[in-house]
Amino acid sequence: MIHNPNREERDSRNVLIKTFGCQMNKLDSELVFGSLIKEGYTLVTDEESADIILFNTCSVRQKAEDKVYSHLGKLRKYKEERPGMVIGVMGCMAQNEGEKILKRMPHVNLICGTRMFSRLPELLDEVNGSKRHILAIDDDATVDFDRSVAQRPNRFHAFVSIMRGCDNYCSYCIVPYVRGREFSRPREDIVNEVKGLADDGCKEVTLLGQNVNSYGKGLGGNGHFSKLLRQLDRIVGIERIRFVTSHPKDMSQDILEAVGELPTVCENLHMPAQSGSDRVLERMRRRYTSTHYRGLIEMAKTLVPDITIAGDFIVGFSGETDEDFLDTENLMRDVRYQNCFIFKYSPRTGTDAEKFVDDVEEETKKRRNHRLLELQEEISTEENSKRIGKSLEVLVEGTSKTDNQKLTGRTRQNHIVVFDFPESGYPVFPRTNGQAGDPSLYIGKLVNVTIEDATDVTLYGSMDSG
Ligand code: SF4
Repeated sequence: MIHNPNREERDSRNVLIKTFGCQMNKLDSELVFGSLIKEGYTLVTDEESADIILFNTCSVRQKAEDKVYSHLGKLRKYKEERPGMVIGVMGCMAQNEGEKILKRMPHVNLICGTRMFSRLPELLDEVNGSKRHILAIDDDATVDFDRSVAQRPNRFHAFVSIMRGCDNYCSYCIVPYVRGREFSRPREDIVNEVKGLADDGCKEVTLLGQNVNSYGKGLGGNGHFSKLLRQLDRIVGIERIRFVTSHPKDMSQDILEAVGELPTVCENLHMPAQSGSDRVLERMRRRYTSTHYRGLIEMAKTLVPDITIAGDFIVGFSGETDEDFLDTENLMRDVRYQNCFIFKYSPRTGTDAEKFVDDVEEETKKRRNHRLLELQEEISTEENSKRIGKSLEVLVEGTSKTDNQKLTGRTRQNHIVVFDFPESGYPVFPRTNGQAGDPSLYIGKLVNVTIEDATDVTLYGSMDSG
């Protein structure tokens, strides 16, 4: 432990953590929150009352890094007014950019890489004690977190990391360089963590990994991910299990059978195709063909009735022709995704694809991006409209952001639902502890909602009253 002479005299230290990027980053922020609170820090939500501002960052796209640089730039004036303030950058961008951040933004005090999060409390002590810049990036350190202190925003939901890193080295992707080699957590650790979450009132867990289907690769034997799902399904109190992200090259029948058979595993699959063209997939080094991908989707739809599929596509990858793009459009049309994340390709420094010529014009990228978004909107609207008139199980997450007299939640298939709730008499739980019509009574509960309307992103309805 690094000795910090100021530590004992320290008053309450207010920390603000701003999280960018994926769900793994959200989980890391929750774990960091927890470890800081344990050390006597207080979490705040605004810059004015923060003594420490930490950015948990993403490096997947240049745009994400630019956004963080722009936020950091804006903090320069705060730092001038309050020189004692600490500004830190953690996560993928810290790992990727390292010292460059300190050179460009000298008012930043701390850089904490993706494998150094668990040391954050002592790094902050070190910054406070010495007032110097600290660069903590270690490629070989193992990620080690104490889940018991995590501060999850919802009691009823938790992210659970089952693996970290990635060994796939898709040619365009920076993740293996910033997150490191793939490492699976022992199954018993994950099961114990989920049991603890269930005891703490958690109903839904989302298992996280860059490529969950290859979970257990280094543990010997096969079928580790489906075995993990089967074991987690038996934990009393856990009502829903989700997992992201699935890689088509590692998806297998035993996993899809588990999704189809296990009552807690939700009927939703996030399995990015990235392109519908075999030529592009090969240049992306994705290690599957569009025929293989289509076969998996067919298997998923057969083994898991009512499954919804989410996807990711990159448009304008180096060498992508109109014909390649047409293959992507056709794949999207045939799979009928529930929703897709669509990105225009931009090369990332240090990846293999950086050596390819970025030869698709920006205008063409924009046009293809727009076309896919338009097509996806059309498909989502049609698919969501098929839910009208049906009663669907929804896990209530809170009140709607646009109307606090309505509730919002998700179906098992991951549709967002906004709905009215009855003023009184819902039979699932007594209303004696709250006022009639108090929406907070429903948060974290499973209810049934009859769908009355649908857009491409949201279903609307009313809670069934009995
Ligand atoms: S599977 Fe490919 S795209 Fe996904 S994180 Fe690994 S290298 Fe990146």
